[in-house]
Order: sequence, then structure tokens, then C-alpha cells
Amino acid sequence: MSSSRQSIPTLEHLRTGGKRTMAQALAATEARRGAPELVALLDEATRAAKAHVLGLTGPPGVGKSTLTNALVRRARAEGETIAVLAVDPSSRRTGGALLGDRARIQTDPEDRGVFVRSMAARDRLGGLSDDAVAAIVLLRAVYDRVIVETVGVGQSEADIDLVADTVVLCIQPASGDSLQFMKAGVMELPDIIVVTKSDMADVARRAAADVSGALSLAGGGGAWRVPVIRLSAANGEGLDDFATAVAHHRAHLAEGDRAETRRAAQELRWVEEAVRIRFGTEGLKRARGITLPAGGPFAREAALAARLTHS
Ligand code: GDP
Repeated sequence: MSSSRQSIPTLEHLRTGGKRTMAQALAATEARRGAPELVALLDEATRAAKAHVLGLTGPPGVGKSTLTNALVRRARAEGETIAVLAVDPSSRRTGGALLGDRARIQTDPEDRGVFVRSMAARDRLGGLSDDAVAAIVLLRAVYDRVIVETVGVGQSEADIDLVADTVVLCIQPASGDSLQFMKAGVMELPDIIVVTKSDMADVARRAAADVSGALSLAGGGGAWRVPVIRLSAANGEGLDDFATAVAHHRAHLAEGDRAETRRAAQELRWVEEAVRIRFGTEGLKRARGITLPAGGPFAREAALAARLTHS
């Protein structure tokens, strides 16, 4: 049961306190939304972001958890700490508490360098909740790497774009997914496309060809060419290519002010989404007319919520 008096750690405490402190902080983000100490912690953590956030999205069964497991092992072998947030549309909240580690992601409970949590999605479609955004902000200020897994169903894939530095769309061989995605306009979303289960050789090759075709139809045209990587998380094939593609995308973001621009746009959308979820599109319209003092996204959200509640 969540108490309304959940204590809120400082950022320093969060960095040194291990998984237990992180778990408490995540519970507090749910139970004490809007509390001034929490707003301050979240804005401080926003400024102190250190991890690269990899967003993995795709339909159920495509192999996201298996890939996540492989990426966790790889990060630990490289001496990097890593956190995983799995956003699960089928999960149910129990008394506002976060669900425990998802069984499908196997980690050593003794390893302080790995943190895994599942969270319920905002809706049946797998959208990200405010709590998931807050959790990612805390995780990326503490761990070296963060993976966010969301189940893409229709347009809800787009939510991953709210938090990820690099969006990876996972597609299953020979599933017709690429055609679906093209129709839904989702092809514009990913920075990297992964065709999973390449050990099922023929189908994977065909799916990769389909996807490349769909991408050239979609035109692309930006400064970043979306790579299509075939991999097998089961036997490790293609994982090096995937790591290289992610490194290239990070390097791309590091040029000029791309990374800052992307994160600033995300922060604006966090505030908008939070207001829209709580006060509806009407509230969002009213919010546009409100001038706010400068501050981080969580302070802005709290100030808007206070104004909209009292007007
Ligand atoms: P998720 O729902 O997207 O997280 O998918 P999972 O990672 O749970 O994988 C779904 C199923 O596909 C499981 O039975 C996995 O064992 C299988 N799978 C995942 N990756 C691979 C792979 O690289 N090769 C093969 N042959 N099967 C895989």
C-alpha cells in the first residue's frame, strides 16, 4: 500500500542509495505527485541526465524482452550500469505501487548495477503514463544506460518518442508488420529498425528487404538515414551491428545541439501531455494563455496544475 507520506530522497541519496532507494523514489513519484520536494527532485534529475535512453518498441512477441536481456548482459560486461523500464499494457496497478521485476527479464538480484521495473501503461494501447516519464527522469540521472520497452499497438508507439534518445522499432520477420507500420505512418518514428529472429534466416532477410523498401517509399530525406539491422537476440548474431548503429545515432545526436533540441522538445511535450491527461484538451487550451516563471518541466507542470485547478 502506498502511503501519502512516502519520503523523497535527494538526488545524491538516490545515486548512492542503491536499488532500494530508487524503488522508494519511484513509489513516491506515484504517491506524491506535485509535492514540492518531488517536483524539485525531478527537475534537478532532469538537468542531471547522464544516461542514453534507448526506447524499444514493437508488437508483442517480436522479441523485445529477449533483446533487452542481451543488451543488459552486454552493458554489464562492459562495466556499465543499466536500468530497464518495461511499460506493460496488460499490467494492473496494485494500490498505486509499482509492479515487481518482470519475470521475463532475468537479472541477478545481487547485481547493484542492474535495475528492472515494470509499470502499467496509461491505457490499453500501451501509452506512457506521467509516472513512467518521471521514473525515466530518475533512472537516467543515476544509471549509465536506460532501456524503455513499450508494446507498440497502433499509434501508441509514438509515445516512446517522449522519452527516448534513440527510438528502435522492432519488427518480426514475415509478419506483415512493415506494411502495417507504413500504413500507420509509424515509419517516421524510429531512428533504428530491428528485424528480430534473424536465425529464422529466410524470413528475416525477406522482412529486412520489405522494410528497406517501405523506408525508401517513405522518403526519409532527413540528416539521419534509418539503418535496418537484422539480429538474433537468441544466438547473438547482429548484436554488434546493432551496438554500432546505436553508437552512430548517439554521435549524430552529439553534433551541434541536436540532443539538447530533442530533449527540450520532449520536456515541452511532457508538460503538455500531463496537462492534457489531467485537464483535457480544454485545459490545455487554457494553459496556453498562462505565462509561467522560468523553471524545469515539473515545476511548470505543477504551476499550471495549480492555476488550472483554481481558475
Ligand atoms: P516481446 O513480447 O517482444 O518482449 O518478445 P519476447 O522477447 O518475449 O519473445 C517472444 C518469443 O520469441 C519468445 O518465445 C522468444 O523465445 C522468441 N524469440 C525472441 N528472440 C528470438 C530470436 O532471436 N530467435 C528466435 N528464434 N526466437 C526468438
